[in-house]
Amino acid sequence: MLEQIVRQAERAGASDIHLQMRGKIAEVSFRLDGVITPGPELPAEVAERVFGRIKFLARLKTYQESLPQDGRIGHADLGAKNDLRVATYPTVTGEKIVLRLFNDTAVKSLRELGLGESMGAELEAFLRQPSGLLLLTGPAGSGKTTTIYACLRQLAETGGRHIITIEDPVEQVVPGTMQTEINEVIGLDFARAARHLLRQDPQVLILGEIRDEATAQIAVRAGLTGHLVISTLHAGSCKGVFERLLTMCPDHSAVASAVGLVLNQRLLRKRCPGCRGEGCEACLETGYQGRVPLVESLRMNETVRDQVRRSDLSALAPAQSLAESARRLVNLGVTDEAEYKRIFGI
Ligand SMILES: [Zn+2]
Repeated sequence: MLEQIVRQAERAGASDIHLQMRGKIAEVSFRLDGVITPGPELPAEVAERVFGRIKFLARLKTYQESLPQDGRIGHADLGAKNDLRVATYPTVTGEKIVLRLFNDTAVKSLRELGLGESMGAELEAFLRQPSGLLLLTGPAGSGKTTTIYACLRQLAETGGRHIITIEDPVEQVVPGTMQTEINEVIGLDFARAARHLLRQDPQVLILGEIRDEATAQIAVRAGLTGHLVISTLHAGSCKGVFERLLTMCPDHSAVASAVGLVLNQRLLRKRCPGCRGEGCEACLETGYQGRVPLVESLRMNETVRDQVRRSDLSALAPAQSLAESARRLVNLGVTDEAEYKRIFGI
C-alpha cells in the first residue's frame, strides 16, 4: 500500500505526501503544484502498519510516537524514482508523517522556465549587461528561486565572469560559480558575507535576499560599481520593491541609477492536458497539472529613474500587469477562472 501511494504521488508529480493519523484511521494527502490535495484514506487495520513500515524503512524508532523524528528512505527500498525524506511529528489526533519526494533537481535553463518570448529576451538582455541590479519579488512559493537559478545557469554557461552567490541555503549546485551560504549563528549574515566577498573580485553577485538596510546599501553600491547584482526583496509589487528600497537606502539617486530591472512573479496551475480540467487519475482529480510562471516587469528608463529619484512612485506600473497576463492565460484555456481567483484573491 505504501509503494502504491508513493507511485501515485510520483506519477502526479507531487512534492510531498502527508499522512495524518485521526484516531485509528489515517488521512493521506498530496502537495501537488503547491496545493494540498486529498488522497486515499487508510482504514484502521492498515494505517498503523503503514506508519510502522515508513519508520522502519527510514531507520526510525517504530515505537516512538510522542517525539518528532527525521530520516530518509532510499529509493530502492520502495521502488521509488528518488529518495524520500521522512519527518514525523506528534499531533493531538495522532502521529503525522510528511514524506518529501526529491523530484528532478536539474537547474532549469531560462528557456525552460516558460516565461514567454519577450520576458525571456528581456531577462537575457539584462544578464548580458556588465552592471546593474535585478530585483525579484513575489510571495513564498512563487518561483523566485527557480528563476534566479536559471539566471545563474545562463551566466555560468555564457562564461567569462567570476560569479559569486550568497545563499540561505544553497539549494542547487551550479558548476562554474562560487556558491556560499550565510551562517547567522556565527554572525555571517548577508551584509557581512557580501562585504568580504566583494573583495574576491566578482563580476556577478547573487544575494539570496535583501532583508536589512546594510545589505540593501551594499547591493545598490555594488550595482553602481561595475557588478551585476541579482537579489530578492519582500514586496507585493514592482512599486512595493521601490517603496522598501527607498526606505532602506537614504541615497535615492543611487537607487535610481543602480536598479536595472524589477520582476514580480507568481505561479499559476495549468489545466491538466489529459482531462482538460475535468479531473483524472494523472492529476489526482484536481484538474490541474504543472505550473506556469507569470511575471510582470518594470524596466528602468529615464522617466522611471527620475520618478524614483524624486520618490514619486505613484505612476510606477509594469508594462503588463500580472492580472492582465493571467486573464490572457484563462482566455487561452491554459488555466481557469478558479485558479485566477485563488492567486489574485478576487
Ligand atoms: Zn487530469
